[in-house]
Amino acid sequence: MQQPQTQPDPQTNPLIGAEFFSWNKWDACTHCGLCLPTCPTYRELGLETDSPRGRLYLMGTAFRDQNPMPINDDWAKYIYRCLDCRACETACPSGVHFGEVIEEARAIYELNAERPIEQRFWRRLAFKELLPNKDRLDLVFEMMWLYQRLGIRWLVQKLGILKLMGKLGEMESLLPDIPNPFLKHNIREFTPAKGKARHRVGFISGCVMNQVFTETNLATIRVLTENGCDVITPAQQMCCGALHVHNGVRDTALALARKNIDVFEAEDVEAIIINSAGCGATLKEYEALMEHDPVYAERAKTFSSKMRDISEFLAEIEMIPPKGEIKRRVTYDEPCHLVHGQKVQLQPRTILQSIPGLELIELTESEWCCGSAGIYNITQPEMSREILERKIKHIAETDAEIVATGNPGCILQIQLGVKAHRLPMKVMHPIELLDRSYWGIDPLG
Ligand code: SF4
Ligand code: SF4
Repeated sequence: MQQPQTQPDPQTNPLIGAEFFSWNKWDACTHCGLCLPTCPTYRELGLETDSPRGRLYLMGTAFRDQNPMPINDDWAKYIYRCLDCRACETACPSGVHFGEVIEEARAIYELNAERPIEQRFWRRLAFKELLPNKDRLDLVFEMMWLYQRLGIRWLVQKLGILKLMGKLGEMESLLPDIPNPFLKHNIREFTPAKGKARHRVGFISGCVMNQVFTETNLATIRVLTENGCDVITPAQQMCCGALHVHNGVRDTALALARKNIDVFEAEDVEAIIINSAGCGATLKEYEALMEHDPVYAERAKTFSSKMRDISEFLAEIEMIPPKGEIKRRVTYDEPCHLVHGQKVQLQPRTILQSIPGLELIELTESEWCCGSAGIYNITQPEMSREILERKIKHIAETDAEIVATGNPGCILQIQLGVKAHRLPMKVMHPIELLDRSYWGIDPLG
């Protein structure tokens, strides 16, 4: 494959934002192809254009002045069919930061492309009006909770109304069970350590995470306090901007990042803890996201250096061993943004193995994407389903009673697959199992 020249010409390239593309990161690719066998979309479709190497080529050709392939819907199809799972990063011997490069490519596309009005509406609603606004998000999830609790959902499904609603109906079928919205009030800005405080940590409760997985957040705080941590959960914190970064909405992502840095700088914490792998990877990469920001570049670096996945933090502080037996067969699925994005692989397994009585069954291809990938299961439903099918096949082979995975999107996606295949399995975050063990409660009891 002939490669374009490596020096872009910002004078003649008509694309807005192309001058900021990280050519040094893109240039690291030697086209060896070692990443191809690890790419889920390449495995499904067998197309070079749906491989990491092919996508890097497409970026190079589009962002240069000679431009043999224009930036258009066809180009975007391949760029957006990427899961941003970053398995190619782990495989790459040349250190190509594929996630950062593809996220920049999407941002340039979004600045230049004219999306259809319907797509513009949904994107604006999700990325600009809801995710950055806590009050609106609270209201939406309270309405969804009522919709599920008052029997309206049951009625809508019984009457077959969802089939008439097209895309909206499909999205409704992906809706998880929403917990009681009042549960969130149990998360306080300051939760003291149990006994003498040995650490002072910040906690990122997340946006959707806090709405749908409130119990997991509460379990995380309990585990931290059990391990001698004073936990600060600032009410002013914002959505981390991961979905924005993944989908090219960079201006909002930067605004959210600045706000989060301001909020956590005001707290004197030694570490900032997160239990969502996708958000954690983005928070650790604020440093790269803000490298051109004269005011925030250094501050972003300090912020990112404090970020820890909960499993990573517990390994660093030598966690108090749990004593409650959980005599259950458990398998562990690795969220892409934990294993590939953050290179955290052993720590969640160590937590699970520390629980007395728990039998950990290794999952074949545990490090492969489940097809969730943020909003990929909404934007690319067919590919997402195909990738999920492979994951569920391997999960079924384990005959486990519990599937543990540390990312909200993966929990929801695997729950969908488990339900569709009627597997007698519960999907949980590993920290919930540790919490149950501390309290001596059977998670399936
Ligand atoms: S991020 Fe994942 S889907 Fe995208 S090119 Fe790399 S391996 Fe393939
Ligand atoms: S493994 Fe790395 S260097 Fe080789 S083709 Fe893939 S991205 Fe390029």
